[in-house]
Order: sequence, then C-alpha cells, then structure tokens
Amino acid sequence: MKLAGLHHITMITSDAQRNVDFYADVLGLRLVKKTVNFDDPTAYHLYFGDEQGSPGSILTWFEYQGARQGHAGAGMIHTIGLGVSSPEALDFWAERLAAHGYESSRGEASLHFSDWEGLGLELVVTDDGNAPLRAEHPEIPAEFAIVGIEGARAYAPYANIEETLLTETLGFEHLLAGEYRLNGETRTFYWGYDQATENGRPGAGTVHHIAWTTQDDEQEAWQQRIAEAGGYVSPVMDRDYFRSIYFREPRGVLFEIATKSPGFAVDEDPERLGEQLRVPKMHAHLRDELEQTLTPLVNPRTRAKVEA
Ligand code: ZN
Repeated sequence: MKLAGLHHITMITSDAQRNVDFYADVLGLRLVKKTVNFDDPTAYHLYFGDEQGSPGSILTWFEYQGARQGHAGAGMIHTIGLGVSSPEALDFWAERLAAHGYESSRGEASLHFSDWEGLGLELVVTDDGNAPLRAEHPEIPAEFAIVGIEGARAYAPYANIEETLLTETLGFEHLLAGEYRLNGETRTFYWGYDQATENGRPGAGTVHHIAWTTQDDEQEAWQQRIAEAGGYVSPVMDRDYFRSIYFREPRGVLFEIATKSPGFAVDEDPERLGEQLRVPKMHAHLRDELEQTLTPLVNPRTRAKVEA
C-alpha cells in the first residue's frame, strides 16, 4: 500500500477576492471550485489548481473575513514549494511578481516570496519526473507556468529526529536530518522540518492542513494503520469531491488522507470549473440564502471571457 503523492494544502485567508486576484491572476492558477466550508457554510472554501483540478496541484483556502494575520510556529507549515520547469521560469516570475508589487529573493534553483497575506511560497525548478500540472493564463507562457506542488516545510519543536510515523507508517523516505521525500505512486513530494523558535499563531496567511492522496479502496486500511501506530484518526468524512480522514502527526501538523475520487468534475462541467457557487450536499437547503449573503467574487477567467 502506497500513497499516490500530495493531494492538496489548505490555508486560511481573510479576503477571498484578494486571494482570487493573487492565485488565479498573478500566479495564474485556475479557480477550480467555489464552495463553502463544511463546518461553517457561511464562509467560502476556494480551491485553485491546474486545468483539471488534479491532486498534487490543489491549494485551497477557507475564508474568515477580516481574520487577523497569523504566523507559522511549531507544528505549522511555513513554506510551500511550487514547481516550475526551468531557471528561465524563475526570471519570468521574478519580473512578473515585481510588476505586481511583490518582492522576491532568488536562490540557486528557487525564488522565494510571500503572498499578499504573508504566506511563504517558493518556486523551485523541478527535476523529479512529476508530470506537469498546469493551468492556462493569457499572460503566462506554458513553459513558465507553475507545474504542481513540489514540497512543503514546517516548523517543529524537534526537527532532526527521524519521525517514524512518516517513515514506518506512511512510507516516506528519510533523506537526512529533518528532510523527507514521499516517493508516491504518481508523484514525488519533499517534506522538511525546521527548528521552531517560537509558537505560531493560526490566522490569515497560515496553513491549516496538508492532504495526501490514497487509492479509493485503500483509505480504510490507512485509517487502521495510523490507529495501530497509536494516532487518533478521524472517521471517514465525505467531502463531496473526495473522502477524507484526518490525524495530527507527532510534531503537530494536521494531516489528511484524501481519495482520488470523485474529483472536481462531479458537480460541474470540466470546462466551467469554479464558475458557479457549489454548495455541499449536506448544506444544499441553504443555497438560496448563501447566494444572497456571500460576497460575489470576480474570477479573472470568466471576466476575460466576458471582455472577449
Ligand atoms: Zn483538506
């Protein structure tokens, strides 16, 4: 039994529209689903990714309007690595980010910057054989586009001791102190810990959880394996686009294991993903009310269609 790779990473934002402007316009990802939070249907849950909304490309946000800014500390992810396919792509992005008012700093094969709300992002030149998961944007040539999520780093109270829940239970490879790689069935993902120097504060601009992909028929076996390793693991929850289990890894990061199916095209034409508000089955009776109360969002892709 093997995880397939990363599924998605979920964050908190204080402003859904500014988030759409940054991720769907500046970074050129596709808004693939506009829905609401299962636990609080008055709040948006937005999903961004490649054209199809493929596992491995998905970044999602819960909107808590006006939430105060948080910062990453022990047990929280502080940086997300997004793949690009060449060093020339880093030059393109340094320029594009600067044109939109974002500073970035160049490493040997990476470009580090923060989103509009302070979330740490890094563009990394990939050579791990992951299939490119691109979205289309009129200002971003395909050869420079983001090609999927390549890694993430978290702060931990003890960064360097081998984490056996990762290696023995979940099948990650321990590369060196604090550094792991998930050699998934379909995608590779780099996971690392850095020594925490302070406690974090959850809030806008911070990561809520990270989800790994399982084959649909293996989820219950994962649930059992994690429970046997001594972790508390949630029941299987129907998230409409996938089914999920949740547990906290020993350093405090909230993990989820999500199924591949049914995917984002289950309730929308694949050509028109993200265009209409989708309300989870369990909150379907609130649809009319939510259409009235949620702030309407301008999606750069549908705006471009209207202008064309
Ligand atoms: Zn999730």
